[in-house]
Amino acid sequence: MGKKQFQAFRGGAGNGYAGYAMEIIKTVGDYRVWRKDLGPDLTVGFVPTMGALHAGHMKLVETSGRANDITVVSIFVNPLQFGPAEDFSRYPRPFEADSLLCREAGVAAIFAPEAPTFYPPDFSAYCEVPGPDRFLDGASRPGHFRGVCTVVLKLFNIVNPDRAYFGQKDIQQALILRKLVRDFSLDLELEIVETVREATGLALSSRNVYLTPDEKSRATALSRGLFRAKEAWTRGEKSAETLKAMMRSEIEASSPTRIDYIEAVSQADLAPAETLSKPSVLAVAVFYGKTRLIDNVLLD
Ligand code: AMP
Repeated sequence: MGKKQFQAFRGGAGNGYAGYAMEIIKTVGDYRVWRKDLGPDLTVGFVPTMGALHAGHMKLVETSGRANDITVVSIFVNPLQFGPAEDFSRYPRPFEADSLLCREAGVAAIFAPEAPTFYPPDFSAYCEVPGPDRFLDGASRPGHFRGVCTVVLKLFNIVNPDRAYFGQKDIQQALILRKLVRDFSLDLELEIVETVREATGLALSSRNVYLTPDEKSRATALSRGLFRAKEAWTRGEKSAETLKAMMRSEIEASSPTRIDYIEAVSQADLAPAETLSKPSVLAVAVFYGKTRLIDNVLLD
């Protein structure tokens, strides 16, 4: 769909493509041709994902739709951000269902490159943000954020968005990428969108499909622990030790397979803090069965 057609179909600001042709673009070259054809006047909101889309991803799309003329979603399971023992090969890839959701939400284009063309065999450039990548998931998943920063920088260069949307669910990722945008003077705004949860409090995640019903119900302990600790913080409890102990007792009561971390860190550099008087994050990573779940709350 070209710019003229787009403007004719557009029903006001936002994801005006709803109900009309959505492009599925597989190569960098095709994306660039498509983008050029739209002209320079339209603002582009960008939602990078690994697919297996759920209401959390769609909230990013909706938020983008309110602020931009068009929204582009990327779907790419990025091998660079998975460790050798992680779930890269079994990560869910329901592309048809994802396309349908995007089409219904008025997304203008899905950019879904194939790994071998996206990363040619001699690909060797990378990008990292040392510092905040040392803690939390950075400590548990060596190389993860290097993989994330590399793919996101590459995607930003291709998609060339005015704004990009990331979920608070992966707060460390969002804060590291915000630093990447600032340090490299990238010409875009990075927005962080609140975590979408099930009614039970469980944060939506593409990995929730791995959970048995029993694991899923036990995993609600993560958000309960986080909310309880946040409430105590709001009432004046600023000791990280005390708040971590509250979360630990709630989580341990759910018989997790393994607790990876229960942390209280500063929002500024993601380093562990003892007293939570400045903006902070309470963050947890816990295994139920083989599934590693993360969640967090912000203390602002
Ligand atoms: P992923 O496909 O898991 O890489 O996630 C793509 C984007 O969706 C990331 O910015 C995530 O932080 C965001 N996201 C994932 N789950 C949620 C959720 N429950 N609520 C809001 N955003 C989310």
